[in-house]
Amino acid sequence: MSFADIPDTTTEYKRTEYVKITAGVPLKVRILDKKAIHVTKHYIPSQRISILCLGEEVCPICQSNSKLMRENPGLQPRQIKGFIPRQNRYMVNVLNRTMVKLTPSENVVYASSGAFPSHHADTGELLLEIEAQPLNHVQVLERGPTLFAQLNSINDAVTDEAGNPLGLDKFDVTITATGSGRRMTTNIIPHPDQNEELTVPDEDRYTLETLGIQLTPDEILSLLRGVSLRDIFETRRVGEEIETLTDTEGKVSEDVKENIESLFDN
Ligand SMILES: [Zn+2]
Repeated sequence: MSFADIPDTTTEYKRTEYVKITAGVPLKVRILDKKAIHVTKHYIPSQRISILCLGEEVCPICQSNSKLMRENPGLQPRQIKGFIPRQNRYMVNVLNRTMVKLTPSENVVYASSGAFPSHHADTGELLLEIEAQPLNHVQVLERGPTLFAQLNSINDAVTDEAGNPLGLDKFDVTITATGSGRRMTTNIIPHPDQNEELTVPDEDRYTLETLGIQLTPDEILSLLRGVSLRDIFETRRVGEEIETLTDTEGKVSEDVKENIESLFDN
């Protein structure tokens, strides 16, 4: 055992890869965790980003919401201007096993409506000669209660002969979607027969508890006043000389992207 535990800061930063659900592109995934984790977030429309709620006691947004409720008796939250609801979000590590084509420049191409395009839409790389293969990337599936309630049902419904649930991490599922944005509906199809054992190294999984944008109450107030997330992190850097700031920024921009894409699922 070492005398002083020095955290290893040399490990390369790993960008968070999120499952991207698109209509017409069925995704085959294997859930890797025994349990999903739950967080609450606020989506700030003026900034187009989602941040973690700090809990009703300390979160300035929740406090502002309660104040707005008191000042507007009889109105529903959604009728009150400036009310920023708290959203329930759930996350789980999955292995994305969807058949994809990888272009020479390592772009991932999914089949859409059952067929691969003949070439990559942006780079023009030809795809016809390239064979499809499972993507095999560990990704984070983050969605709202609708999709995760479906996963609960499947977990309860897929059992052995004695009625014991097999466990969602024991077989593949396909996620399909129709529509987009607010009108997107997702559906999950279990494949209990596709149940070969997978070995995914622990270090390939994300520490879900560390994902999401966590700001201090003061930083949240700045954000609400219109200060950009970039400036907030810049201020942090000046104040604390955070060495890994660029990492944080990368992570944040990814999170922002994912949050905007999936925020309508609640
Ligand atoms: Zn809150």
